[in-house]
Amino acid sequence: ARAGSDTLLEGLNPQQREAVVHAGSPLLIVAGAGSGKTAVLTRRIAYLLAERGVMPGQVLAITFTNKAAAEMRERVAHLVGPRANNMWVSTFHSSCVRILRAQAALLPGLNSNFSIYDADDSRRLLTMISKDLNLDTKRYTARLLATHISNLKNELVDPEQAAADADKDPAELPRLVAKVYGHYQQRLRSANALDFDDLIGETVAMLQAFPQVAEYYRRRFRHVLVDEYQDTNHAQYMLVRELVGSTTADPNAEHSIAPAELCVVGDADQSIYAFRGATIRNIEEFERDYPDARTILLEQNYRSTQNILSAANSVISKNTGRREKRLWTDSGEGELITGYVADNEHDEASFVASEIDKLVDSGEAKFADVAVFYRTNNSSRALEEIFIRLGVPYKVVGGVRFYERKEVRDIVAYLRVLANEDDTVSLRRILNTPRRGIGDRAEACVAVHSEQRGISFAEALRDGGEGRVPLLNTRSQKAIASFLELMDGLRMMLPPEFSSDEVVPDQLGDIGDVVEAVLERTGYRAELAASSDPQDGARLDNLNELVSVAREFSSDARNAAGLIDSPEDGDVDARDGEPDPGSLAAFLERVSLVADSDQLPDSDEGVVTMMTLHTAKGLEFPIVFVTGWEDGQFPHMRALGDPTELSEERRLAYVGITRARKRLYLTRAVIRSAWGQPIQNPESRFLQEIPTDLVHWRREDPGTGIGSGGAIGGGRARSSGYGGQGYGGHSYGGSSSGTPSFGAARSRNNNLVLAVGDRVTHDKYGLGTVLETKGAGPTATVTIDFGSAGKVRLMLIGGVPMTKL
Ligand code: ATP
Ligand code: MG
Repeated sequence: ARAGSDTLLEGLNPQQREAVVHAGSPLLIVAGAGSGKTAVLTRRIAYLLAERGVMPGQVLAITFTNKAAAEMRERVAHLVGPRANNMWVSTFHSSCVRILRAQAALLPGLNSNFSIYDADDSRRLLTMISKDLNLDTKRYTARLLATHISNLKNELVDPEQAAADADKDPAELPRLVAKVYGHYQQRLRSANALDFDDLIGETVAMLQAFPQVAEYYRRRFRHVLVDEYQDTNHAQYMLVRELVGSTTADPNAEHSIAPAELCVVGDADQSIYAFRGATIRNIEEFERDYPDARTILLEQNYRSTQNILSAANSVISKNTGRREKRLWTDSGEGELITGYVADNEHDEASFVASEIDKLVDSGEAKFADVAVFYRTNNSSRALEEIFIRLGVPYKVVGGVRFYERKEVRDIVAYLRVLANEDDTVSLRRILNTPRRGIGDRAEACVAVHSEQRGISFAEALRDGGEGRVPLLNTRSQKAIASFLELMDGLRMMLPPEFSSDEVVPDQLGDIGDVVEAVLERTGYRAELAASSDPQDGARLDNLNELVSVAREFSSDARNAAGLIDSPEDGDVDARDGEPDPGSLAAFLERVSLVADSDQLPDSDEGVVTMMTLHTAKGLEFPIVFVTGWEDGQFPHMRALGDPTELSEERRLAYVGITRARKRLYLTRAVIRSAWGQPIQNPESRFLQEIPTDLVHWRREDPGTGIGSGGAIGGGRARSSGYGGQGYGGHSYGGSSSGTPSFGAARSRNNNLVLAVGDRVTHDKYGLGTVLETKGAGPTATVTIDFGSAGKVRLMLIGGVPMTKL
């Protein structure tokens, strides 16, 4: 049953309605959190299909996570029926994979079975390269190199350009990075692999190099819609431009077609991925990039209570250089925000857990209504411990993810080699895992042989198995031969290849069987089963889980194959670029692209959701706990001395607060362990930016009897006035919270400089000796031995209640 235009526009406010029906020129929807941007995007798609005669195959919608994509497709399907399945609704990365696989013939040195290297694979490859180049791997870590190369890729700078730019730069690092970058790209290519950044960059390069391909996609996608546009980087921006086509091109020129209709939605205040090259320039300059653009502002928030919204507005208003926008809601003031000052992170976790228990016991909420956010991944541990002890069911989204566990990665590496034997990183990973007598020396012989002959590692390995690799001893040769035999046997189990319209459901086979066979025939399972290490039990569980994931995947594929209707008249084949349904390639693609948010539990599962603030973007929950409101934690230590980073942290605070619909809890710990040492952090400056009358402090600062502000003991860390230390010219000294100031502590402790061996007296810990100092300025820390009070690591920021003797 199709929804009519009345139903599709029902309940929308006038601005939302305008955004849904707008036709023709590029459209930008900018609005604060919870104002219905994503909802409007979804309705707009439904409206295009139902009222404007657009074919599903002509729609390309880009979301931030696969989970968001699935949700959007489902909602559109709800509005217009199963036709919605022929749309492309996916992340930037998934869309690019589809385009690249479909056009792989145009990519020099790649075929359509290419592997996708994630961050860990990239770092492995970089480590290999660093060793080959004899780099100082302590100084130039794989992580550092990866970051620099990724930044270049996000700016669409290729190795040649990077080298040319580095030549103009006196610094050493850019030159080194450019060199490594060049090698890295070569090695990726010969492994028939692309990294995550390449997915975008290579697509852009291809569309630019082959106008007829660009033309094909422009004819095809007449509607391009992008959610969370504020978090696009330059490469993604260019991708959108290439797909839409020039809006200013000469319409009479050959090969020119009217540009696609572009609709982007976003909120500059929620830009939190600058570290991945995202730039709000793209949203701020939209009208310059697309001169005939129409901009619509949404101002009504439908998500949160007024109190929650006021807190969010008040925090974000402290950022400079932003467009002021007032969000309002007619949902009433709601409850006050609950604040809690904990002694330490365990106390904080106990408070969160017992509060959740109370809410559930009283029937006010289900576990699934609750989310707990934290700034950094490792903060989940203290919470998890208490949750387990108190029996609060929970799920951590992100963290050590299933697909990042070693045993899972090992087996996935087997599957990748089965699909693409040129995937050298994976091949070398499994060559001797489990141990089968192909040692480092043998591996090195094969590597040298492949280099000298200019053949792939896989080919060189085959030579090895047949005794054609110099210096390889007979034992290794035999081991290699039987490894190759093993892999050939496994490869026979793969489902046959179909072209997309002749899929025979019964012949789809089962990837679960392939995974089973890998576990059995390689001896991987037997080795774990024989082990007495208790962790190996958990590893076995994970591998069984992987078998189930694969089985489920195959059974979904079989069901879908039975259901696929023939493409609609006039609709373009919606499946080109997708691997065969049910194939190993399709399975691996799904495994490679699962983003953090994809592990969100279904909401009826009844568990509390825990995740970092970054992962929470775009989501909403009735009840939200945001933990760790301490300077040094949130804002993150790294941001304390840097106004740009501090603004980004503040946007993160805004994102966190605005996830809450009905109830919001803000907690902080006076002392928190970091790197195994207790650290005393002052209250987050962001807390002080929330008007005091919005917060009910359930437990106040144990030292002062006042919730907002202050550290332990008599010391008033916060009141020392950050303004004096020059954080972006803001003065944080005059807080609206009305807490008393401790002038003595303040003047006594500003600019405390300590050296190893200095003697100090601390208001709480007493006499001590400095053991170690680290860093300088606002991020300086010292470790002090306070004798019977223990060794304590302290930040010197703000006013520490401590005097040098
Ligand atoms: P964010 O910036 O956090 O991504 P958003 O602007 O995308 O937020 P949505 O998630 O689309 O906001 O909407 C927030 C909530 O408001 C959702 O629950 C949505 O269903 C609801 N909503 C949006 N528009 C309306 C409306 N006109 N009437 C009632 N509810 C609405
Ligand atoms: Mg949204």
